Amino acid sequence: MKQPLFLQGTLHEKIWGGNRLGTVFNYELNSDKTGEYWAISAHGNGVSQILNGRFEGMGLDQLYHLEPALFGYPKSKVFPLLIKILDANDWLSVQVHPDDAYALAHEDELGKTECWYVLEADEGAEIIYGHTAKTKEDLKEMIMTGQWDELLTRVSVKAGDFFYVPSGTMHAIGRGILILETQQSSDTTYRVYDFDRPDKSGQLRELHLKESIDVLTLAEPKNSQPVDLKVGDLMSTLLVSNEFFTVYKWEVKGQASFTQTAPYYLMSVIEGEGDLLIDNDTYSLKKGDHFILPNHVASWEFSGDLTLIVSYSND
Ligand code: ZN
Repeated sequence: MKQPLFLQGTLHEKIWGGNRLGTVFNYELNSDKTGEYWAISAHGNGVSQILNGRFEGMGLDQLYHLEPALFGYPKSKVFPLLIKILDANDWLSVQVHPDDAYALAHEDELGKTECWYVLEADEGAEIIYGHTAKTKEDLKEMIMTGQWDELLTRVSVKAGDFFYVPSGTMHAIGRGILILETQQSSDTTYRVYDFDRPDKSGQLRELHLKESIDVLTLAEPKNSQPVDLKVGDLMSTLLVSNEFFTVYKWEVKGQASFTQTAPYYLMSVIEGEGDLLIDNDTYSLKKGDHFILPNHVASWEFSGDLTLIVSYSND
């Protein structure tokens, strides 16, 4: 099947969500507290559906199991990655995710290493990225006594920034930030601190202090150093590559040809519009489109003025 698999994702209401997924990406929202769009996902909490071709209407989870050839006969039993767009109209909880070993033992799913490409950020927007404790004892003490100002490391962000967030990293996305997240397919979050705010039923959301202290690492997070490569009309930026995934930003202004080097690709158009050419077929692309290039697509071309976030699994 030499066709891209266009996907319809799922929207998720959150206490910190807003309406930017509607205003910026034209997704049809049914809540003004829409926090997440799970764009490319086979996770049970929000499965993307195929929009075109012979597999139209099928869930990505089912397709991954029924048609392994499309994914190059992958090793991973579950579709390993998840692409989300998040609209933080307010702070997300301060949180941490387990690694694979801890998550498989305690949650029966993958761990969660993630990374963020900042699509938009209000003036003065910040994230929490790491903490100041040097020992587990200090960490525990500062969490238990709520010394948040001393413990949590704040970093200013602007559009175009990129952050690598390995499992075990203390983190929170701050108010006024729209990001595209590439992550392992997992939905396990341990909440350390939630700003003491109630949800819509007046309840505080659950915290997971024991699990958080178990999995938080002491080392300061090391962000990746993006590497730019200009080839003709393409500016390719390698954002991060690790044991789980490789993520690029591709900016095309004109025309650019590609040859496959990974079994399959996950692609999200974050800006502009243009065409995707595969053999003699043309598919039009616009901001907010998400698709997979399956294994049978050995080469392709983009034309137009568009920016994509592209990833593949290293499983
Ligand atoms: Zn997270």
